[in-house]
Amino acid sequence: MQTVSLRKWAVDNEPDLTREVYAQIECGGTEDCGCEECFNFATTRHLVYSAEVIEFLEWLGIDPQLEACARHDARLDTGDHTYTVSFFLVGRIAAGPATPVARRRGARCESLERAGDALVGFCADASDAPDPFKGLPCVRLEVRVVAPWVANGPEPIGTN
Ligand SMILES: [Zn+2]
Repeated sequence: MQTVSLRKWAVDNEPDLTREVYAQIECGGTEDCGCEECFNFATTRHLVYSAEVIEFLEWLGIDPQLEACARHDARLDTGDHTYTVSFFLVGRIAAGPATPVARRRGARCESLERAGDALVGFCADASDAPDPFKGLPCVRLEVRVVAPWVANGPEPIGTN
């Protein structure tokens, strides 16, 4: 067992167990989905994580190629697109909020923390974790990334 401490969060986790679960997962969730946003993510995945983020994921026992899903957030003025990528890991939130979504003055807003050059958050809700995680205590890790658009389909503009 190890603990990742990231500002407001402390997450106890089992990297060896997490690694065993990833060994049973065949491909990333964006490969299974079939929508244009996911296709674009799967195609640009090798560009979106810094060496530092890959090291962080691997330290947690996560295979960076095997995200559970990637939610398209927005198209930036630069032409790049932001995604929020979810990975599950074996562990539990020992301290900190149960979700990276906060409410401020009635508005829903995200409350991610900076880890090196990335924004990340943890969520206790693991109800949509891939099957190999079933029966294990799990935490969802969210990573905000920026990806270029390479898919042929029309570029999505806003949040969907
Ligand atoms: Zn999709």
